Amino acid sequence: MTDSPSFFTRALHAGRSRQTAPSRATPIYLTAGFEFEDFDHAAHHFGTGEGFGYTRTGNPTLRAVERQLANLESGSDAVLVASGQAAVAIALLTVAGAGDHIVASTHIYEGTRGLLVDNLARLGIESTFVDEIRDPAAWRAAIRPNTRALFAESIANARNDILDIAAVSAVGDETGIPLIVDNTLATPYLVRPLEHGASIVVHSASKFLAGHGSVLGGVIIDGGRFDATLSGRHAPHLLAPGAGGAPSIFERHGGDARIAYARESVAPRFGASPSPLNAFLIGQGAETIGLRVERQSRNALEIARWLQAQEAVESVDHVGLESHPDHDLAQRYLSGGYGSIFTFTLRGGLEAARDFVESVQVFTHMTRIGDVRSLVLHPATTSHSHRTEQEREAHGIHPGTLRVSIGIESVDDLIEDLSRVLATVWEKVA
Ligand SMILES: *Cc1c(COP(=O)(O)O)cnc(C)c1O
Repeated sequence: MTDSPSFFTRALHAGRSRQTAPSRATPIYLTAGFEFEDFDHAAHHFGTGEGFGYTRTGNPTLRAVERQLANLESGSDAVLVASGQAAVAIALLTVAGAGDHIVASTHIYEGTRGLLVDNLARLGIESTFVDEIRDPAAWRAAIRPNTRALFAESIANARNDILDIAAVSAVGDETGIPLIVDNTLATPYLVRPLEHGASIVVHSASKFLAGHGSVLGGVIIDGGRFDATLSGRHAPHLLAPGAGGAPSIFERHGGDARIAYARESVAPRFGASPSPLNAFLIGQGAETIGLRVERQSRNALEIARWLQAQEAVESVDHVGLESHPDHDLAQRYLSGGYGSIFTFTLRGGLEAARDFVESVQVFTHMTRIGDVRSLVLHPATTSHSHRTEQEREAHGIHPGTLRVSIGIESVDDLIEDLSRVLATVWEKVA
């Protein structure tokens, strides 16, 4: 700086520090970009993508959280994005383009379904839905020569369907098609799909990974096992030479070609970059995910068992219950608990459901899941209101069905809240 810089210049440059200090918590690099050390450093960054230049293409806070989440999922690498929807969209756009085809489970998040049937369809990516997800033959029958991915959720809402990850991965492996698993409801504490053969995992980090309910985020985690011999014909974009005859993505990144392509070419161009502050908050949340999910799962199972014994309750769809059709798969895949999001159906139908959500006190009435607080929602009139009644019934969503996401409160207080509410609801019905 000059000896006597002006007020305007001092406002920008005075006291500025590049000093770093060893910090216990991940430092929050809340910056749009990074200063280059010199001329060659800038050229090197642009030439190789190494280091940090601009936060949309990389940031040390994001990088730390990406490594943390990749590790928790037994993955090789991860890309953090601004929401779960962005994670699903970027994962699918990493493997598919116009003229390609995706096979997806029918039992998926409504936002993902909309992405497939509306947005991706408009981009020329077709989808086929599999209803009988337990049957490998149903997946195999839906595959076409241009299928580029199989997509499903490890635990699905609303019926708590469980994905047989190994069986469906094996169907994909027959023709080199990757299985992408949305592991939002299960979390890596209960199951790590990459260990069972899935190729890519996505999450809404807005839910359990963060846990506190203060930010949105999403993550794409790759197993790092891209095999050009087996899957190359589905991924010409990973094998094609770069601009000016530069090495292909596969030549540069090998088994990590897919996640490298997501990081270099898809996520930064579609631009759903997370704030470094939000990334920090997701990383902080993820530090306690095991404790939270363990307790949430324990609370949820106790509540599911209690609900099952209540007169006012017609049915409970919780996969920890022996009566659930997927209980065997849950025992095979989930360890440390059966999850904490489930539905139950009141005998009094819509009116009982209305009374229920309007009288709970410890439960919070809102859309969202995976919070440390217990939440309740009436799917038929909210998340699934645009579906036909027939479609809702097929998904286990009846007029009296409520979805709960159980938190870390004392289970006694939650059951007391439910007990009080069910007593009044039942009084009107009986
Ligand atoms: C919430 C959710 C999403 C979307 O995530 P956002 O962070 O809300 O964009 C995707 N999949 C599942 C299973 C979800 O629960």
